[in-house]
Amino acid sequence: MQKDLSRLLRDPNLIPFAKQNLLSRIANQAAALNMPCYIVGGFVRDLLLGYPINDLDIVVEGDAIKLGKSLVEKYGGKLTPHHKFHTAVWRLPSSFILHPSSLDLITARSETYSRPAALPTVTPASIEDDLRRRDFTINAMAIRLDGDHFGELLDPLNGQADLEKKIIRVLHPRSFMDDPTRIFRAVRYEQRYSFHLELSTFDAQPATFSPLSGGRLRHELDLIFKEENSAAMLARLHQLGVFDAFDPCLPKFNADYANLLKSVPPAEFGVSEDQVTAGYLLWVLDSTAAVVESLARRLVFSSALTQACKSIIQLKKDLPALKTSKPSAWTFYLEKIPLQAIYVLWLVFRAPALREFLVHWRHVKQNTNGAILKARGIAPGPRYKNLLSQLRQARLDEVVKNEKEEEEFLNRLL
Ligand code: ATP
Repeated sequence: MQKDLSRLLRDPNLIPFAKQNLLSRIANQAAALNMPCYIVGGFVRDLLLGYPINDLDIVVEGDAIKLGKSLVEKYGGKLTPHHKFHTAVWRLPSSFILHPSSLDLITARSETYSRPAALPTVTPASIEDDLRRRDFTINAMAIRLDGDHFGELLDPLNGQADLEKKIIRVLHPRSFMDDPTRIFRAVRYEQRYSFHLELSTFDAQPATFSPLSGGRLRHELDLIFKEENSAAMLARLHQLGVFDAFDPCLPKFNADYANLLKSVPPAEFGVSEDQVTAGYLLWVLDSTAAVVESLARRLVFSSALTQACKSIIQLKKDLPALKTSKPSAWTFYLEKIPLQAIYVLWLVFRAPALREFLVHWRHVKQNTNGAILKARGIAPGPRYKNLLSQLRQARLDEVVKNEKEEEEFLNRLL
């Protein structure tokens, strides 16, 4: 199937006009410098699939830093060159009103790996070489943008045919060994587009994953939790034995929680939407504190994420004992726990007290403060904390319902 790419590149339903304008400005400038200029990777894949475009990955044969300098000269903005990688980041002039507000300009390059799972060494090269260093055939296509070449498809590895056959195929047998993160990428594309992974090369390389750093592994999992279909992706990674190959301590995701991954916190909860944290919380929910400890260490969790994961496990354990507690006991307990953990546990167990805490109880405060106690002639000291806490408790448990009752209650305490 031959698609008219110049027409697709001008389709505002796929590429908003502001992005089209940006592409033509870059293409014109590249043409003026005699640098063949391409849009590559996910952009081409999604354009051919008819999906709206997000990222613009621009590659030139020549010198991306030189192109960046001339764009800044002509249009403004700011350039941050990375000479070692022959790339530059162009912070776009604010008049362009584009999101994201910066753009990577890349010099076509080849990459070599000093050892498996290491970061590659980069050398400027032709666009064909650049496409050959990529992960899958469907991501190894380019569309040329400059001058009369506008809309020409470069597809040396038959990516378009694999798109039509719905196949995720690596470019060479060592691919997963060179960069084990690719297995996560493969599964993301496979489940996102309902494609299938061409497995022969993967099967031939058992247990080659261990050198992958925890940070890179976590980054891949973050990307998975941002996807619509993350539960299916995790299940597939398990099925392929990927988690066990990386680390047997990685827990299995409970399929019963799959639909919860897409939940958006109701506005009245006052909990920010954070699909990634919610994903990790659901992932660890059926594990033990010891598993969470080792997972957090292995995947280099932030201290906030570690804390949230530990808390949700403890809260799940304490839930039965808390069930008959008064609102004040719930509140004093839950106030020490990250809101995301409470929200995610509510998603699973729907305990009404968790909802009450998020929506009401945590906002209930006593009317009395330190100044009022001082005016009542009580000398400042540790007693203040104790009195104020008793007043808040009375408010939460509705022993007192208004200011007057609170004052009477305070009188009885003094
Ligand atoms: P997505 O829709 O998931 O963002 P994308 O293709 O835009 O897909 P990026 O992670 O932005 O994904 O990568 C851009 C391009 O860089 C890919 O299309 C691919 O050609 C190449 N690429 C990214 N990661 C790798 C990798 N680990 N190995 C080889 N090539 C890669």
